[in-house]
Amino acid sequence: MQAPLDENERVDRIAAHIKEIISLLGEDPGREGLLKTPRRAAKALVHACSGYSANPEELLGNALFQAESSGMVIVGDIEFYSMCEHHILPFFGKVSVGYMPGEKIVGLSKIARMVDAFSHRLQLQERFTSQLAECLRTAIGAKGVIVACCGEHLCMKMRGVEKQHASTTTVAYNGLFTNAHELRREFFEAIGRR
Ligand SMILES: [Zn+2]
Repeated sequence: MQAPLDENERVDRIAAHIKEIISLLGEDPGREGLLKTPRRAAKALVHACSGYSANPEELLGNALFQAESSGMVIVGDIEFYSMCEHHILPFFGKVSVGYMPGEKIVGLSKIARMVDAFSHRLQLQERFTSQLAECLRTAIGAKGVIVACCGEHLCMKMRGVEKQHASTTTVAYNGLFTNAHELRREFFEAIGRR
């Protein structure tokens, strides 16, 4: 790992590369409309990849509450925005999470923060889905977690490949969901099976 850079310094250094990319693309980085683009683009990129600095398990920290029932908890349709690690182009969509509580449940907004921590990286949708499932299980001591993610990938759409697969669905589960087809069905029925 590199020593952490101050955020301003990182933006400056990334901006210098983006300026170079603009001219390699055949544009004039000195053109008025592009003058501020390198720094703006660098900031956008730093934000899109800001999940590395978050510790997803720590995010949940003090937002755990005593579970009052053992029924499945489902948080559906959480928006996410991520960057495909193969093309550094966005993929985005919705992710739904279900878990069977152990002793604790977690505040809903914290799950959304955890989604941001894993999505704001150079990512693969498959890995994003399973990282969420694993981390939630460990962090809240759930008896099982299931995650279903539906994403649209600009690298597929813009480059004109596989346009017929306009969205990609990935599913990951662990614990009680592994051998319980009926629990998985309960989850998919609750989120409206997509
Ligand atoms: Zn890609």
